Amino acid sequence: MKTAKDMIYGKYRRYEKIYINITWAYLILASLIYFIKNIFYIKPSLITDSGHNTALFLSIGICTACFAGNFFKKYLFNSGILENKTVFFVEKILTLFAISLILIYTNIGTWLFSILLIPIMITCLIRGLNLGLLLLISSFGMHTSLFLLRNLTEYANGRIQLSSIYDQFFSYSIYYIIFLFFVILFGLLYKEGIEHDFEDKKLMEQLEEKYQQLEAAQDEIKVQYEELMLTNNKLEQSNKKLSDSIGEFYTLQQISQAISSILDVKELLKHLNDIIIGVMGVSYSTIILYDEKTNRLKVHTTNISNPNDMVTMKDNINNGVLLNALNNGENIMENYVDPVQYIFTLGRDINSLICLPLNTKTRKFGLVLVEHTYSNAFDEDNLRLLNIISKQVGIVMENAELYNKMTELARKDGLTGIFNRQYFQDRLEVEFDNARRENYSLSLAIFDIDHFKKFNDTYGHLFGDKVLISIVETVSSTLRKNDIIARFGGEEFIILFPRTGLHEAYDKVEALRERVSQHVIKDNLITASVTVSFGVSSFDECTLTESDLVKTADDALYIAKEEGRNCVRMSKVLSGH
Ligand code: GH3
Ligand code: MG
Ligand code: MG
Repeated sequence: MKTAKDMIYGKYRRYEKIYINITWAYLILASLIYFIKNIFYIKPSLITDSGHNTALFLSIGICTACFAGNFFKKYLFNSGILENKTVFFVEKILTLFAISLILIYTNIGTWLFSILLIPIMITCLIRGLNLGLLLLISSFGMHTSLFLLRNLTEYANGRIQLSSIYDQFFSYSIYYIIFLFFVILFGLLYKEGIEHDFEDKKLMEQLEEKYQQLEAAQDEIKVQYEELMLTNNKLEQSNKKLSDSIGEFYTLQQISQAISSILDVKELLKHLNDIIIGVMGVSYSTIILYDEKTNRLKVHTTNISNPNDMVTMKDNINNGVLLNALNNGENIMENYVDPVQYIFTLGRDINSLICLPLNTKTRKFGLVLVEHTYSNAFDEDNLRLLNIISKQVGIVMENAELYNKMTELARKDGLTGIFNRQYFQDRLEVEFDNARRENYSLSLAIFDIDHFKKFNDTYGHLFGDKVLISIVETVSSTLRKNDIIARFGGEEFIILFPRTGLHEAYDKVEALRERVSQHVIKDNLITASVTVSFGVSSFDECTLTESDLVKTADDALYIAKEEGRNCVRMSKVLSGH
């Protein structure tokens, strides 16, 4: 910022500069006049006898000296040396002395007197009345000394009259008296100017101070504003974090609710895929399952609809990078996908992907793969969210697997591994309904080992168990896929033959009976065989109700036992059949 001092200094410099330029003009004018006078033989009074050439050389010398003087002054001004009060005063004295010298010793003319006024006037304007007056008096002193020096010599030589000296003295004194008025005038102007400048300066300083205070206040406000912005940003960030966390929590809660109750893995994975697409807004989501036996990956659920893309995905899913991620339990996040590395993305315009294992501590189920056509589509938050989801899904899958195992166990007989009576009853209900609805025959056979009590007594209970297992294996191996065998009680078994009539069933069980009777069971030293008795009944030849189907077969078994064992007996056929 420009200070008051700078402004005043600038003003002074301006005056001085004007003065230097005026001097140039004067010098050029004086030189011209001087030379013209000499060229036309108007001899200066100084050069009375020395001849024309001497006068010319002297003229050139004086002019050169004056020009050099002004150059030197310009240098002093430009370099700032002239700012020094003493230098300033000495320079003005020398200038006035030089002008006086020229005025007195040349016949240049009284017009040059006016130039005396300029340095005095400048001094008044720049340095004040006192220095102006001092300069005026000094100039008058110097002028008078030089005047007397020259004229008294002339007078002594008789070249001039005393009255002429008086005349000249008075005439130039008049100039000095006029100069005195100017000195006073410019001195007053200076005083007013300096007071004005001083006031200006004071005002400027006050303004400057105020400005600085304002600047400081502004800086303070800026700092406070920045602090505020920082706090605001932090607040916004924590707000965003909070809302993100709430959003995430809500999403996870929804997902949790949606999947935790699903015990069917297929349904669960379908749900998972829909949730991922809905929550993350990805282009594609694919669930890949892992087969431990073959060490292979297989696409299970996906929203890829383009048949070509689907083929690319299925054919290339056994990718080493994915298998590594699965085996090491590592997450993959790629925001600039290289199709060479992820070959299943080749030609599918996939630029970002996340792949996470669906693992638990004990099981590796497979992978969740989300893909986006945009590059740089995913961030750490996406990865984190998907990680939480996939971990939860892994747990749910393991639970579902455990549940399936449990229900499977609950359905089965512990000793023989075939269905138990409870499950058989459930299946019978379903099968009976189907048979009635679809109007096909449903036959049921019950068989019981003959004299098994005695067998146990003879060979021991453990061997008896082995016999039970062996007979179940023998019988089961001959049954069709849709036939259902179950342990009905101790050493009693029941077989359901869907879409099988009474006589067909009879033939089947007769073959079974024969087979069992020929089957030899060995255990170390023991070699034995057993026989079984069968009772057969059939819907709708022997009975029309579910409960009667079992009862009539059991009755037929009873008859088989009664009639000598190791035989098959059919239930009575209903009239009309
Ligand atoms: P029947 O020819 O009349 O059927 O004579 P049975 O001796 O077989 O008579 P029953 O059918 O009443 O015999 C049941 C026997 O089956 C009693 C028991 O010792 C034997 N048993 C039942 N369950 C098991 C089992 O799980 N293991 C073994 N080893 N024996 C069993
Ligand atoms: Mg029995
Ligand atoms: Mg028995």
